Amino acid sequence: MKRNAIILLLFILLFSTIGIHAQQIIAHRGYWKADGSAQNSITALMKADSIRVYGSEVDIWLSSDGIPVVNHDATVTLNGKKIRMEETPLATLRQVKLSNGETLPTVEEYLDAFATCSQTKLIIEFKTHSTKEREAELAKKVIGMVRERGLQEKVEYIAFGIHFVQQVRIIDPQAKVYYLNGDLSPRVLAAMGAAGFDYHYNVAYKRPEWVHAAHDLGQQVNIWTVNKPEDIQKMIDLKVDFITTDEPLLVKEILQKQ
Ligand code: MG
Repeated sequence: MKRNAIILLLFILLFSTIGIHAQQIIAHRGYWKADGSAQNSITALMKADSIRVYGSEVDIWLSSDGIPVVNHDATVTLNGKKIRMEETPLATLRQVKLSNGETLPTVEEYLDAFATCSQTKLIIEFKTHSTKEREAELAKKVIGMVRERGLQEKVEYIAFGIHFVQQVRIIDPQAKVYYLNGDLSPRVLAAMGAAGFDYHYNVAYKRPEWVHAAHDLGQQVNIWTVNKPEDIQKMIDLKVDFITTDEPLLVKEILQKQ
């Protein structure tokens, strides 16, 4: 009996160790290549949840009248005219249709839909804004919305700007925040309290030692946006923790072959 228990324990230990090294998938701007989906749409989030990836990424802005909204670019096209996200009120942004016919979502709508997801986490990217004040306002509002819905455990943050990393650390010290800009070492990020780095794969190719350095410091490593089979394989071999991709099913398939 005792021997069986020891064998069982060894198996659990073995599989939990394997689990730690298996890469997790993050669907870049949601699973937008699925039928009826579009980048940063609510459908893309639900589709990411349906294929059971670790996370679904989304980009957010603050409208001119202070409402957090979902979009990737700094501008959006309405009636053939380019308008700036930051300089446009919500009422106008709501006239914008995504390529799948959905209305450009607010962050509140996105979080309400996310609350119904059972598998995926939400990886929120704060886009770099015109002023630090507006960035602080966006971080405060969005982290507040996440808290109101009790979703703190299921949401992580990413940003190119150090200011956003600092804001998240101040507003919700428990939250995981990763830095995107590719220029800071794991040691510097650890000192800032970041959960790790989330860099372009070129940085991982150039500085593979940063992956090990991050792990030695107890940090995690996410790499974007890895879409080609050879790059996906290289990132798996480098033992990064997360692969952010436009091809979540391809990454899944490659992972299953390991
Ligand atoms: Mg993004």
